[in-house]
Amino acid sequence: MADETTSTEAAGRDFIRDIVAGDLAAKRHATVVTRFPPEPNGYLHIGHAKSICLNFGIAEEFGGRCHLRFDDTNPTKEEQEYIDAIERDVRWLGYDWGKNLFYASDYFERLYEWAEHLIRAGKAYVDDQTQDEMRVSRGTLTEPGKNSPFRDRAVDENLDLFRRMKAGEFQNGARVLRAKIDMTSGNINLRDPVLYRILNAPHPRTGTTWHIYPSYDFAHGQSDAIEGITHSICTLEFEDHRPLYDWFLANLPVPSKPRQYEFARLNLTYTVLSKRVLTQLVRDGHVKGWDDPRMPTLAGLRRRGVPAAALRDFVKRIGVAKANSVVDSNMFDFSVRELLNKTAQRRMAVLRPLKVVIENYPEGQSEELEAVNHPDDPASGTRKVRFGRELFIEQDDFMENPPKKFFRLSPGTEVRLRYAYFITCREAVKNAKGEVVELRCTYDPATKGGNAPDGRKVKATIHWVSAAHAKPAEVRIYNPLFSKPDPTGGEGFAADLNPQSLEILSDVRVEPALATLSNSAEPVQFERQGYFTLDPDSKPDRLVFNRTVGLRDSYAKAAGGKP
Ligand code: ATP
Ligand code: MG
Repeated sequence: MADETTSTEAAGRDFIRDIVAGDLAAKRHATVVTRFPPEPNGYLHIGHAKSICLNFGIAEEFGGRCHLRFDDTNPTKEEQEYIDAIERDVRWLGYDWGKNLFYASDYFERLYEWAEHLIRAGKAYVDDQTQDEMRVSRGTLTEPGKNSPFRDRAVDENLDLFRRMKAGEFQNGARVLRAKIDMTSGNINLRDPVLYRILNAPHPRTGTTWHIYPSYDFAHGQSDAIEGITHSICTLEFEDHRPLYDWFLANLPVPSKPRQYEFARLNLTYTVLSKRVLTQLVRDGHVKGWDDPRMPTLAGLRRRGVPAAALRDFVKRIGVAKANSVVDSNMFDFSVRELLNKTAQRRMAVLRPLKVVIENYPEGQSEELEAVNHPDDPASGTRKVRFGRELFIEQDDFMENPPKKFFRLSPGTEVRLRYAYFITCREAVKNAKGEVVELRCTYDPATKGGNAPDGRKVKATIHWVSAAHAKPAEVRIYNPLFSKPDPTGGEGFAADLNPQSLEILSDVRVEPALATLSNSAEPVQFERQGYFTLDPDSKPDRLVFNRTVGLRDSYAKAAGGKP
């Protein structure tokens, strides 16, 4: 077995891909057909990305097709805004469903006919019990259920009642249609599950045509069968539903019989991936919207600057398994950092500025120096950066009384300014409160470009911007939205929110080249700081950058080892 696993992994395979490959090799199917079936009741999150990459990825790799199907069976929670957002996000991730866009609501008529088919076959009945009565008589994991008093209604009476349910004669919840399977089954899903509910609510696509709507269980598998899905891939919580889906396939005149395979859903530390909780975060104003860069939604990650390719890479790394587990969210950051390290252009920005005056640099003068855009990619070229008498450096690149291992600026020490000169600190100027507000330095004109002709070395290179030329900016730093590795997904989630999830730095200075970035540009690296992307809140005179990810896991250090 161990050997099999190894060869499977080496081929970029997983157990589902192995099944697909086997089915195609055995000619059980001419072509593979998968689908991604979101319910349009919220935005897609990083867990959905796993499912999208799996379903669309398999179709791509095996030359088949993948459908995008909206599972729109619950009109009270579904909105067009979500449909549009889901389409946008799947495309952004890099996948294309072509002509294969479907809606479960397209099948309402057929599903209704199939419900009548079950009634005529004596395999479905209208139940008048209240919801409470039904819950009690369903039994528990250890106790069998009890038959409903309405279970043995005659076929004609069932047909008549079901048609009147459809015609809108009854109040919401007055009756349901149930499958007649087995109230004593060890699998609760087989204890006469509900097929149709009365819901007098308009549907975004079918309007007021329907007064009854199919349950998720009755719609889902049959939609797959109608579309000729060969491999119906879903998460583990549906494993127990598979016998029910197979019962429908066996008892209805369906055009095809898809096979269901279950994989482990993605769970991430410090993250909640439940649409219900994400909806609540938005509704209760804990975040600024579905695309708040702290959200694990694809819209949020995109706004934070995460490239779609990094998400796909992450999904590939975590693989597809049959056992549930929790993935360390640092793994996701790793994928993002690794990609951006290769692709992002380098720029200089000072997040917490401290003024430096170069006393021996002529007043009113400035010069252009050459800076490389990417140290490992000469093809990305160089740009000019302005140097002058007054500069900004990071506050924490200076210490008045440095400990032994601090090699950056302090009174009397010499450091290299990136792409520029060696400078030596002569004096720290303080305000009335004793805070350092300005450094008086001198530079060595012979060290232009950052090397001394006499071969003397410095131990540190720091970044800087020219005070006269830099542009003001705001930087938004995002930390995990939750402060616990396993946040409460249920009612108490608000207590686990991280009060420090957003840090705003409002006095940032960036090199002028950053003012010409377009809104859709890929993130850039601010040297020594991390990767940053322009936020849509930016204005020409006030740039706003989101930190996509730090260079290292800096939050983990600050929090004492916890991310
Ligand atoms: P939630 O449980 O948050 O309400 P959901 O699973 O009901 O989400 P759907 O719109 O039904 O959301 O999901 C569409 C598809 O995405 C389903 O096939 C589902 O199995 C898959 N999916 C949802 N969450 C995850 C996850 N965390 N990891 C992998 N796949 C997921
Ligand atoms: Mg679902």
